[in-house]
Amino acid sequence: MNSHDIAFDSQHIWHPYTSMSHPIPAYPIVAAQGVELEMADGKKLIDGMASWWSAIHGYNHPELNQAVISQLNQMSHVMFGGITHPPAVNLCRQLVAMTPEPLECIFLADSGSVAVEVALKMALQYWQSRGEKRQRILTLRHGYHGDTFGAMAVCDPDNSMHGLYKGYLPPHIFVDAPQCGFYDEWEPSDLEPLIRELTKNHREIAAIILEPIVQGAGGMRIYHPEYLKGVRQLCNEYGILLIADEIATGFGRTGKLFACHHANISPDIMCLGKALTGGYMTLSATLTTRHVAETISNGEAGCFMHGPTFMGNPLACAVADASLTLLLNSPWQQTIANIEQQLKTELLPLASHSAVADVRVLGAIGVIEMKQPVNTAALQKVFVENGVWVRPFGKLIYIMPPYIITPEQLTKVTDTMAKVLGQSIK
Ligand code: PMP
Repeated sequence: MNSHDIAFDSQHIWHPYTSMSHPIPAYPIVAAQGVELEMADGKKLIDGMASWWSAIHGYNHPELNQAVISQLNQMSHVMFGGITHPPAVNLCRQLVAMTPEPLECIFLADSGSVAVEVALKMALQYWQSRGEKRQRILTLRHGYHGDTFGAMAVCDPDNSMHGLYKGYLPPHIFVDAPQCGFYDEWEPSDLEPLIRELTKNHREIAAIILEPIVQGAGGMRIYHPEYLKGVRQLCNEYGILLIADEIATGFGRTGKLFACHHANISPDIMCLGKALTGGYMTLSATLTTRHVAETISNGEAGCFMHGPTFMGNPLACAVADASLTLLLNSPWQQTIANIEQQLKTELLPLASHSAVADVRVLGAIGVIEMKQPVNTAALQKVFVENGVWVRPFGKLIYIMPPYIITPEQLTKVTDTMAKVLGQSIK
């Protein structure tokens, strides 16, 4: 890529959450190998982000490459309406086997946001089939579930896009997020805001949607497993569906295969995405129980009303199947426990820095919350100069590296995080 390409990019191409009139720099990456991204000038960056939680095995992995190439030589795509194929069946078999027990019916979709749309539609159709008008969703403040309209409507109302799209978004119910951190002593009063809402409105509520244990883009908050257990119990008591958005937390990231495992609970509907394909391409899955699937299917419509063009894309399914096999055949628990231990050793002491509000670690996730919002462009420049790829946002400087990161590479990332702390205030 030359300077003309970069100028074209900044003039014509939108990047995530970026201004078209004052875009912040986009760094040219031309290759990626293992844990490193290679810039156009040959400089290598150690990746602390796993491409937003997804590239768990690192880049250019020979087994994942081979899965794509083999499938490409068979067929890259075929419609899923009235057709099935081995990659979809193989992948879904693995998903049924690895997710909590009652989840066994799978809808394959294109992206995380669409998986959430599908989950919400499942919940609505479920109640419609049962002849009850339940159309409100209850969720937690500080939540994030995607950028499409249905998903946006259950994102934190203050911290997200609600103001911009006022009038278009259905008014759902928000309760205060849990205050007890993962390692704190459990305080049952954390559940009181939820109990109050359920007591008042449970007859209108179709489902509760939440990110289990780790609230990601809405603040990187890591909460107590007892809260999740309590939510499951309340859903049972009131007969409300529980939707677990495991799009960020799934596939080992929190130290368990799924974050729901920290509380030994199973949701009625689970959304998966991001690391599903090992970061190779976009694919998501919404899983539900036989009971929910059959209730929907026996309703007025006689089917579930969703069916994207690229549903069950064979290339994506083949690489996802290979990625899950790779994960399950690896000592992933130990690998992630080692990363967690190292993150605790190297990041927790930074909590005493005067600009730092809090430091949190769980599994292969490390978060520094600053007292003031950071200057993303300025910080990113320092990270790149130091050979590290981290993208801070808001008050958060956080990492979720590929699981294959070495201790030396991880130390370089955390050292650079420590180094930028003094430079983070706008
Ligand atoms: N849910 C959660 C918890 C997420 O972190 C994200 C992505 N940041 C999404 C949903 C949306 O996924 P996608 O960006 O693939 O649409």
